[in-house]
Amino acid sequence: THFGYDTVDVNEKQKKVADVFHSVAAKYDVMNDLMSGGVHRIWKRLTIEQSGVRAGGTVLDIAGGTGDLTMRFSRLVGPTGKVVLADINDSMLKVGRDRLYDRGITGNVEFVQANAQSLPFPDNTFDVITIAFGLRNVTYKDQALASMARVLKPGGKLMVLEFSKTDNPVLTKLYDFYSFNILPQMGQMIAGDAESYKYLAESIRMHPDQDTLKGMMETAGLTSCKYQNMTGGIVALHTGIKP
Ligand code: SAM
Repeated sequence: THFGYDTVDVNEKQKKVADVFHSVAAKYDVMNDLMSGGVHRIWKRLTIEQSGVRAGGTVLDIAGGTGDLTMRFSRLVGPTGKVVLADINDSMLKVGRDRLYDRGITGNVEFVQANAQSLPFPDNTFDVITIAFGLRNVTYKDQALASMARVLKPGGKLMVLEFSKTDNPVLTKLYDFYSFNILPQMGQMIAGDAESYKYLAESIRMHPDQDTLKGMMETAGLTSCKYQNMTGGIVALHTGIKP
């Protein structure tokens, strides 16, 4: 058994995730703004503010996609620092790389194709690791968290920004309606792809709730694990420190 996830068909999930992100890559940024009404920018800004990243820092943005967080980190760490944008999907990586080059963000950013479950970096490499809206796509989340803990420096911080569970029943009803009805229709209209956006809604519903994820981070060996809800728990930011 693989960390208790033995009911999941790995290849099927990994293939589905690959199809989804190959399909949405070109329209990814437009859809993000539309689907969240621009609010994803606020969630990301809060993550950056709490990262504590400083000039000269070393950051891994895993599942970094089109580079929203990487762009901001690149400015923060400056010419003496380094940011690695890693993603499993070459379509997403390509959109991210082109986007950053177009904005002149080069020099301290590196692009790496990698699976969060088996990160190709030495132990104790990074001051901060972020995974934003990525963990729910990973098949073996425990393996991914352990891999991230391994490559963090002692004292380094892991930040997981992800959809989570709302605590308000009215908000939950509205949100479910939005995710399962409106979202796939928007996906169809704008990206010509309802299926991928259905997957998105399902993957959000399947994702562990706040306390479960906090427990998983502790199991991965991190300390001071805590979370902060945003937008009524639609999104949560979990953080943990490598001892
Ligand atoms: N972090 C970006 C953001 O917040 O805009 C992109 C998030 S996007 C919803 C999810 C990303 O996770 C996709 O680019 C996908 O390719 C990547 N991904 C999915 N499974 C992965 C895995 N096992 N390892 C690394 N990246 C993965």
